Amino acid sequence: MFYTSTRNKNIKVTASQAIAQGISEEGGLFVPCELPQFSLDKIASMVDMPYTERAKTVLKDFLTDFSEEELDYCVNGAYATEKFSSSKIAPTVNVAGNKNILELWHGPTCAFKDMALQLLPYLMTVSAKKTADGKTIVILVATSGDTGKAALEGFKDVDNTRILVFYPVDGVSPMQKLQMTTQDGENVSVCAINGNFDDAQSAVKAIFTNDEIKAQLAQKNMMFSSANSINWGRLVPQIVYYFSTYCDLLEQKRIALGDEINVVVPTGNFGNILAAYYAKNMGLPIKKLICASNSNNVLTDFLKTGEYDKNRKFFTTTSPSMDILISSNLERLLYHMSGEDDTLVNELMNALSTDGKYEVSKTLIDSIQTVFDAGCCDEASVDATIKEHFDKYHYLCDTHTAVAVEVYDDYVKRTGDDIPTVIDSTASPYKFSKSVLTAVTGGEEANLDEFAMVDELNKISGVDVPKPLQALKDKAVRFNNVCDKENMSEMVFKLLNL
Ligand SMILES: *Cc1c(COP(=O)(O)O)cnc(C)c1O
Repeated sequence: MFYTSTRNKNIKVTASQAIAQGISEEGGLFVPCELPQFSLDKIASMVDMPYTERAKTVLKDFLTDFSEEELDYCVNGAYATEKFSSSKIAPTVNVAGNKNILELWHGPTCAFKDMALQLLPYLMTVSAKKTADGKTIVILVATSGDTGKAALEGFKDVDNTRILVFYPVDGVSPMQKLQMTTQDGENVSVCAINGNFDDAQSAVKAIFTNDEIKAQLAQKNMMFSSANSINWGRLVPQIVYYFSTYCDLLEQKRIALGDEINVVVPTGNFGNILAAYYAKNMGLPIKKLICASNSNNVLTDFLKTGEYDKNRKFFTTTSPSMDILISSNLERLLYHMSGEDDTLVNELMNALSTDGKYEVSKTLIDSIQTVFDAGCCDEASVDATIKEHFDKYHYLCDTHTAVAVEVYDDYVKRTGDDIPTVIDSTASPYKFSKSVLTAVTGGEEANLDEFAMVDELNKISGVDVPKPLQALKDKAVRFNNVCDKENMSEMVFKLLNL
């Protein structure tokens, strides 16, 4: 199978080129030229498989230049059961009736980013061996919290890689900060920057494209790559769990083979929901993809009207991983749904970078709406949903998951469509203990320190605290570098000993 670029469909690369390179040279994103098709019989054959075998079945049709041994090595390493707090890796839990929750946060950092970032380092090192002859890959990450930690944990002590993570000094939750500053591994570095996430992101992008820095790296046999969801290697592992949850629903006899399901995804960069779109187009019986946003509802407006406009107020919410106004992966959807119109994608993306907005044709938005529904949820509804689901079903959601649950409840009220549904749960509630505890109790414990809140939430809910979060309490802080955003490139040199 080959991959092309959303901005130039004359480009043709292999999976390993797409993964090692990260982004196409003219700025487009790599997309598969065609999708493998899964028959219902093939899906049925996956029911009895463990997660690792389901993953290999899906991935081998996408990573056709990987050998069987290479794929075994990658998948068995990434999804080793001792790294996950559930032997199912990504279990599907029934809440009530047709409402099921796909828990994607049982990995080492307790957020769904692990599902992709545990596998990506393996895919990348195998790809680099094939295409970049033994260079050391330097992963540069700007993070607002979850990606940084998941990338650190995925890349720690992986041969021939270095990873440098920059986070805004005041822009992450206390738990997220501790997760990063206590990170172990010989090839990792973490640095706070005086600035916000956008400053970190812009500085990282500038370093990526600085020819002088690239040349210095090349002299030391190093190259940059990206662990962001613009990388195909981040997206492809996410297709797997949609097949896996369907198999789990079959196994639990909640659906029969061929029955359609709806899928609800708490969305930021549009990566996770795009993976569900690919699964649907590969033959997985999905009816609607429901895109859930918090108060930063640029995607809700787009999916309802066809106009994407990021010129709006930015809200800092209790679901920070969805506080985003430029959803990069929407570019891939526009490419596929416009009949692979790379000229149109160029026009739209140029308009987005110059005017901050674009509008698609009525035909295009109509066809997008046959597949996607959308809704958004304000902060008060997030709290109310966490409380209601805990009181009624004894199910404890994190803030991101609660956005999706609330949007789904609205969808059912609005449409009457209550077929079996999977709602993605993207983080452990303990990663956002303060918000979750406040929602459940009505607010009194807000002054406790982070671990006291974790204990209190555990006492009230009886839900186990994930071991990796519990262990942070006794871990020493290793990284306390802080630098100004103007000095980030010097910091990169210093951290790489160049
Ligand atoms: C990254 C993230 C999201 C958003 O996922 P996208 O693929 O960017 O749409 C939602 N919830 C949590 C907890 C996340 O870390």
